[in-house]
Amino acid sequence: MVTIDFHMHIYEEPWHSWVIEFLEKINPSLDYTKPVKPEYLLRDMDEAGIEYGVIFAESTPQVTGIVSNEFVSNFCSKSDRLIPFASVNPNLSPDPAGDLEYCVKELGMRGLKLLPSYMYFYPNEKRVYSLYEKAVELKIPVIFHTGTSVFKNVRQKYADPLYLDDVAVDFPELKIIMAHSGRGWWYDTASMLARIHENVYLEISGLPPKKLLDYFPNLDNLSDKVIFGSDWPGCRLEKLVEDIKNLSISEEAIRKILGENAAKILGLKNTKDF
Ligand SMILES: [Zn+2]
Repeated sequence: MVTIDFHMHIYEEPWHSWVIEFLEKINPSLDYTKPVKPEYLLRDMDEAGIEYGVIFAESTPQVTGIVSNEFVSNFCSKSDRLIPFASVNPNLSPDPAGDLEYCVKELGMRGLKLLPSYMYFYPNEKRVYSLYEKAVELKIPVIFHTGTSVFKNVRQKYADPLYLDDVAVDFPELKIIMAHSGRGWWYDTASMLARIHENVYLEISGLPPKKLLDYFPNLDNLSDKVIFGSDWPGCRLEKLVEDIKNLSISEEAIRKILGENAAKILGLKNTKDF
């Protein structure tokens, strides 16, 4: 069984104070004032039995801060278990599609993370379509933050997964992953989108495993479309994986959720890594 964490954060410059205060309560084992080292992340992954981690850059200065694409690319070059995802903010970049191409072709990044409620755009705005066209051309998946967040300056309206319906229809070849599965207000919207659209997936970071079957009573049936993520460092990784393994769903569903679905999306099956 392969275990892949599709949602991990690292830090370069310290994040905003409200982010650090939040993380210190959940995971006090790390020093959030200095850039994190790959060893710390790999140590936690080893303890939890996680082979691969998807690591996000962040271009969200109003809400969390900046974690540059260069920093994430360099960080992930230390181990082939770390898979870098780019961040491009369509409100800050003069050439979002060009930036994404640079991240993939020059920095070796393997996906794109977008946070509409931290960056302030609706995912179905035509002005951001060039990013999706480029992602299709580069054959990389795009993961969108969906659902509510407690951080200062978040504008929740942009986090409604319903806007991804247009994107899924207009870009049938694009793999669309909904981080947090519409957390808070939109679990039903998110799970319906994953059922309707072949190219749309639920990602469960930030959701308590014990609540998953309340949010998604049909989790077993949906298991081809559900992907594990932790939101590290904002979690206790080993406990989280343990709790997923103990869910009252089939073993096959657990295998798919913990790694098999992610391996397909990331194309790991075609490499020596899997
Ligand atoms: Zn996150």
